[in-house]
Amino acid sequence: MKIDDFIRDIPDFPNPGIIFKDITPLLANHNALVSCADQLAALSPKGVNIDKVIGVESRGFIIGGMIAERLGAGFVPVRKKGKLPYKVKSKNYSLEYGEDTLEIHIDAIQPGEHVLIHDDVLATGGTAKAVCDLVVELGGVVVQCNFIMKLDFLNGKDKLNVPISSLLTY
Ligand code: 5GP
Repeated sequence: MKIDDFIRDIPDFPNPGIIFKDITPLLANHNALVSCADQLAALSPKGVNIDKVIGVESRGFIIGGMIAERLGAGFVPVRKKGKLPYKVKSKNYSLEYGEDTLEIHIDAIQPGEHVLIHDDVLATGGTAKAVCDLVVELGGVVVQCNFIMKLDFLNGKDKLNVPISSLLTY
């Protein structure tokens, strides 16, 4: 199944000059959705028991949850500021289109747990770096960041010092 047939370019979204990669056609197609989750789960590190899969708000929740199910891991949401109900650890970060804050529940990761981080897109890497920092601050070990796609011209991998996997590269 060719995943890139289900990704469409939206020019000038959310700002003029940006070409946004829209994954909603992928989510809407059952075979593409299942294949995407299967392929990403298959790319997870071998010989490591993954305790938690993190999905990053909001598109990372969907396939992140499917990967967690396939790996026999728990699912942990990392959310934008003010959305999580319990005590949180927060991290400010800069992203392609401005600044934001991400949060995780303080008890979501136990010290020593192996964590796989999933998001739909790696762009500048600010988001994934902030999530990695949150995991490390809670005592977890990031074993991989995986993405449906990475936008190599934005050099996001340079911000991350953990293994990276993606199905597509632009
Ligand atoms: P970064 O922090 O790496 O610059 O941006 C990655 C975050 O922004 C991800 O959470 C991702 O969902 C979102 N993002 C940035 N560019 C795109 C894009 O072209 N398409 C989609 N679907 N998400 C994007």
